[in-house]
Amino acid sequence: MSSTAEDPVMERLRAALARLGPDVLLLTHHYQRAGIVALGHRVGDSYELARAAAENQNARTIVFCGVRFMAEAAEVLRREDQRVVHPEPLAGCPMADMADEGQADSAWRALAAAGAADTVPVVYMNSSAALKAWVGERGGCVCTSSNAQRAFEWALSRAPRLLFFPDEHLGRNTARRLGMADAEMVLWDPAASGGGVSPEALARARVVLWKGFCHVHTAFTVAQVRAARDRWPGARVLVHPECLSEVVQAADGAGSTSFLVRAVAEADPGSTLVIGTEINLISRLAAQYPDRTVLPLHRSLCPNMYRLSPEKLLETLENLDAQPPVELPAHINASAKLALQRMLEL
Ligand code: SF4
Repeated sequence: MSSTAEDPVMERLRAALARLGPDVLLLTHHYQRAGIVALGHRVGDSYELARAAAENQNARTIVFCGVRFMAEAAEVLRREDQRVVHPEPLAGCPMADMADEGQADSAWRALAAAGAADTVPVVYMNSSAALKAWVGERGGCVCTSSNAQRAFEWALSRAPRLLFFPDEHLGRNTARRLGMADAEMVLWDPAASGGGVSPEALARARVVLWKGFCHVHTAFTVAQVRAARDRWPGARVLVHPECLSEVVQAADGAGSTSFLVRAVAEADPGSTLVIGTEINLISRLAAQYPDRTVLPLHRSLCPNMYRLSPEKLLETLENLDAQPPVELPAHINASAKLALQRMLEL
């Protein structure tokens, strides 16, 4: 939809938010559409928004513009007297669906059978609340791309080995950044018998990676990085750590969504940045900083984030009392909270 066609909707959205006042906290992820981001009381990556949900003192309702696992994390971290509304309940995340508790149990049993029970699980924020709860019950923590390094160090200070899921690439990129060699990592494939890893290899590993990925970030290639360098000599190429390791190595830098936002904000006027992450964020940064050139490494859109339209958000805000809140079973909520709080304390 064009921005002109959105204008009456935007006006009604602003009016609805003004009417609701401090009763509502609108949290919007960086990958949301520009109109929705423009309205957010807080705009951030999943870590910043989890913190915002945990720290908010005033709002009665937290409206979460992001995908389901983010709204679930806000539900776990909210105060007793608050509720969380997810305006587009169909917006999930394929990566979060690449690991469940049954699969995690199989890996855990295989680790124990291999004599590698001394393993700390670390789960990416991009996972279901049930998997976070599984990790919380086993002494592990959640991490995001902003604090994965700290989470890995925390886990390895407690045990000789960690299990990281569901994103293979963030796991490998983080372990490499900590100076680990590929020989210290193994890849557990939940679809393969025995995870496709021998017991000996499991016992030797320092990091057990999980075969999961984000289709938005694995769309970037080394050939695109080379083509960008040919086309825009002198440009800085920056990518998200959910990208393939070879892409991260070919780029000039890699970091979380907040890192990428900061890199553009701090770049010199006149400079060129080519960025490998979700297209809505890149387009917004390009519009926000017209004195520098901000380009996508390749156009890669998250269709799950895009599901939430301004019209749907309007329907939610204009009928807020009738919206069903995000709900989780009490035992999942309590155990997921353990894992999330360990992250917030990192
Ligand atoms: S960008 Fe990737 S990890 Fe993030 S919500 Fe979309 S599919 Fe999931």
